[in-house]
Amino acid sequence: MTNQSDQFKKVISHAKEYGFIFPSSEIYDGLSAVYDYAQNGSALKNNIREYWWKAMVQLNENIVGIDAAILMHPTTWKASGHVDAFNDPLIDNKTSKKRYRADVLVEDYVAKIEAKVEKEVKKAAKRFGNTFDEREFRATNPRVIANQEKIKVILKRLGKSLEKEDLADVKALIEELEISCPDSGSRDWTDVKQFNLMFGTKLGASADTAMDLYLRPETAQGIFVNFLNVQKTGRMKLPFGIAQTGKAFRNEIVARQFIFRMREFEQMEMQFFIPPGTQQEWYNKWKENRMKWHLALGMGEEKYRFHDHEKLAHYADAASDIEFLFPFGFKELEGIHSRTDFDLSSHEKFTGKKLQYFDPERNESYVPYVVETSIGLDRMFLAVFSNALREETLEGGAIRTVLKFPYPLAPNKAAVLPLVKKDGLPELARDIVDNLKWDFQTVYDEKDAVGRRYRRQDALGTPYCITVDHQSLEDQTVTLRERDSMKQERIAIAELKSTIEGKVSIGTLLRQF
Ligand code: ATP
Repeated sequence: MTNQSDQFKKVISHAKEYGFIFPSSEIYDGLSAVYDYAQNGSALKNNIREYWWKAMVQLNENIVGIDAAILMHPTTWKASGHVDAFNDPLIDNKTSKKRYRADVLVEDYVAKIEAKVEKEVKKAAKRFGNTFDEREFRATNPRVIANQEKIKVILKRLGKSLEKEDLADVKALIEELEISCPDSGSRDWTDVKQFNLMFGTKLGASADTAMDLYLRPETAQGIFVNFLNVQKTGRMKLPFGIAQTGKAFRNEIVARQFIFRMREFEQMEMQFFIPPGTQQEWYNKWKENRMKWHLALGMGEEKYRFHDHEKLAHYADAASDIEFLFPFGFKELEGIHSRTDFDLSSHEKFTGKKLQYFDPERNESYVPYVVETSIGLDRMFLAVFSNALREETLEGGAIRTVLKFPYPLAPNKAAVLPLVKKDGLPELARDIVDNLKWDFQTVYDEKDAVGRRYRRQDALGTPYCITVDHQSLEDQTVTLRERDSMKQERIAIAELKSTIEGKVSIGTLLRQF
């Protein structure tokens, strides 16, 4: 595929054309940054969620799952710091009237310098060939060193100003770096202002007695407020975790890039409760564990990197992102945060109730510390989907478009295709679907020539096509075609289930991790 933005456009149009993602309320011209998952998209999303859920809850006897409500008592958000501090710095360009996140403008500027460095490294690698020592080059090349230093200084200053809420300095930084509006090219900026990202709503029928509520901006607080309930009813001993998946809402200032940044999205979060003093150890363990979960999908080690935070959120003593190489560059996919005892202690203060654990080994009660892993399901969807979409040139020059999903994540695992719509082939094909559907999602497809049906299943990412022909009626065998290799083999109908199941089950994926 050609350049980044072309590939991204292809991702978006393929997602729509093949029934993965539709703009929300499209017949009313859509709603900005809100999307619906379509028939194939919801299946892919469910499979990703299942992989995450089972990796957390099924594989760990000390992690349990809950499903808390989206609406919570409003004081929750005072205690969590979201009412006062869940802000993004916004800036408007006076010429284009476009609104931006001030920190993102600076980060995009930094990404451009990073791209320069990478270009320099690539060029040198080409020039020096086999003798090229990348680490040495990065450590000694004056231009690379100068650019790296520049990046460090900018990010440090941005981090500091945001931490101190020195918004005038954020603007000064944008001006000093001569950052212009990507739309108009103008550098005529307004002052930087804070903007709270929570969506407000109301509970109650009459306007004067209604209670102001928020749609939750993260799922984590539903876990914190249930910490004692779960610990007591589950007789959980520290360390233990509570996992949850569910919708979260943020009134993002700039929501672009398709499902990367949405206003309504889904999170998969796990809060791991630990004794104070062990947070570094658990933070490292969860960083490693989460990276392994990603790598088990086989999408390529080079697609991921850690980004340790300079600027920490108000609740954290360490934080790192797992970044993924999206079609528009490396961006955050997941966060691993050491949240200290901030949330539980704060809920103690606001409720006057003890949220403590009696540790029989230490013979004392304390507020547990927390390490959390937090991943956006929609971002994970985008990572899997954009990585899967390929255009391959076949022998003879034809192009096939294929979604190379990891097999266990594919919406449909097998498609059964009667070669023709007569002679009893459809009936046998339907029998096969009826046999396989108990164990994995199997579809029936009889429209068009078989070659075109193969192409359609490739474009949907279906791992196996099962073709029923006249010989099948005689000897109970079929052709099994595999998506990635396009190899076809003749196998007995009786062997289909065992041959396919091992390759497409979530259990197979879990065993690799
Ligand atoms: P960003 O810096 O991209 O705004 P964040 O650091 O605010 O993200 P967290 O609060 O750590 O994000 O949320 C955890 C995860 O939730 C993120 O890693 C991301 O995958 C997902 N996420 C956050 N905001 C959005 C959004 N607006 N749309 C889709 N996914 C999101």
